[in-house]
Amino acid sequence: MAKIIDGKAVSTAVKAQVAQEVAVLKEKNIVPGLAVIIVGDDPASRVYVNNKKKACEALGIYSEEHALPADTTQQELLALVESLNNRSDISGILCQLPLPGHLDEKKVINTISPLKDVDAFHPSNVGAIMIGDYHFLPCTPAGIMELLKAAGVEIAGKRCVVIGRSNIVGKPMAMLMLHANATVTICHSRTVDLPAVCRQADILIAAVGKAGFVTADMVKPGAVVIDVGMNRPEGGKLCGDVDFDGVEPLCSAITPVPGGVGPMTIAMLMKNTLMAAKLQNAVR
Ligand code: NAP
Repeated sequence: MAKIIDGKAVSTAVKAQVAQEVAVLKEKNIVPGLAVIIVGDDPASRVYVNNKKKACEALGIYSEEHALPADTTQQELLALVESLNNRSDISGILCQLPLPGHLDEKKVINTISPLKDVDAFHPSNVGAIMIGDYHFLPCTPAGIMELLKAAGVEIAGKRCVVIGRSNIVGKPMAMLMLHANATVTICHSRTVDLPAVCRQADILIAAVGKAGFVTADMVKPGAVVIDVGMNRPEGGKLCGDVDFDGVEPLCSAITPVPGGVGPMTIAMLMKNTLMAAKLQNAVR
């Protein structure tokens, strides 16, 4: 039987630590603040934004939402970001992606001040991660590192295979595993004989976006399997990229969906918002 890595429990512990540090900052009259921008009415984005707001409230972090209509212009959106960049009560700025097609996500990300970039998507923060000298880590990969640590998974010297090469998950995930001294392979849709590559993994991380994509024949017995996927098949319930029932009996540890990586992403966002407030107020 595999160990089920409990993302709810680990995220609760991370959030408790953040709440404690927020309280200490408040004694110095510093209140971390998060501005969340949402454009249009994508239902999944709405759920994510609501969850982020709730988490802020629970931890004593000030939050404000900027809900803009779907026909917002690029100029209007950039002007909002600039105004948030200039506000001292806003420590972190997050623009919920994806944006409607007429808006240029890259431009928006590049306009967010790197010191307020709590998603760590700005090129200067991405570069900082590459050289291992960073303030912010992207929330999902950072959350996975916390999960591995909490589960006592040894990383150094292990073979890690990451399926997926997005800027948000796959690439930074691979970089963090490399910094932790794993030998890392990144797979994608053009990888030849993906199952054979995956079977080499001591730690297999799936960030594909396809329900049940990772099957038992792709997993080395005793591997640790991290499921990043959040898929909602039509009418069905939330499920991951891993065929949990098939894979779980084979592996040594696995994250469930829901209750694995998902809760960690928000916890790490809270941690980044706290870090942003500390950076902007020169608090160590
Ligand atoms: P994405 O940008 O769509 O990237 C998916 C990656 O999977 C791409 O690199 C793609 O390869 C690769 N891929 C697709 N089909 C493949 C195949 N048949 N064989 C091998 N590789 C394949 O997705 P993402 O933003 O990284 O998200 C991935 C999943 O994680 C989604 O389900 C998303 O909802 C979930 N997610 C969860 C959280 C969380 O908090 N739990 C956070 C973020 C994302 P190419 O590059 O070659 O196209």
